[in-house]
Amino acid sequence: MSTDCLFCKIVAGEISSEQVYSDEHVVVFKDINQKAAVHLLIVPREHIISLNELDERHDGLMAYMMRLLPKIAKEQGLDQGFRTVINTGPGGGQVVFHLHIHLLGGAGLSGVGFSRAV
Ligand code: AMP
Ligand code: ZN
Repeated sequence: MSTDCLFCKIVAGEISSEQVYSDEHVVVFKDINQKAAVHLLIVPREHIISLNELDERHDGLMAYMMRLLPKIAKEQGLDQGFRTVINTGPGGGQVVFHLHIHLLGGAGLSGVGFSRAV
């Protein structure tokens, strides 16, 4: 845990969030600034700054999160599919420096392509 990290505080329950799922590896909660009908953040319990800080110890965790995404999407009723976004570093638009995956879907999601969703 990083003491000055917003998402570590949410994971620890020190700051409230609208949680939709949690287990020993991750916490999933609603993004405070919804960019689509469904906009969730998949956040590992471990404080990892971004994709840049991953090493081979995280391979299992990353695979776990990838496989969790469609399960969460299905629970949210996203039968037609969903979008995932990982912003990395200031140049990638990352503003919270605790690795997280945006899961977006439903009404409000723009069409195919790389329009900036989040
Ligand atoms: P990123 O640009 O990928 O670092 O995105 C960080 C996301 O965290 C943004 O979409 C914010 O809306 C979201 N966010 C910031 N503070 C909170 C919070 N307290 N609870 C839920 N989501 C938050
Ligand atoms: Zn953190």
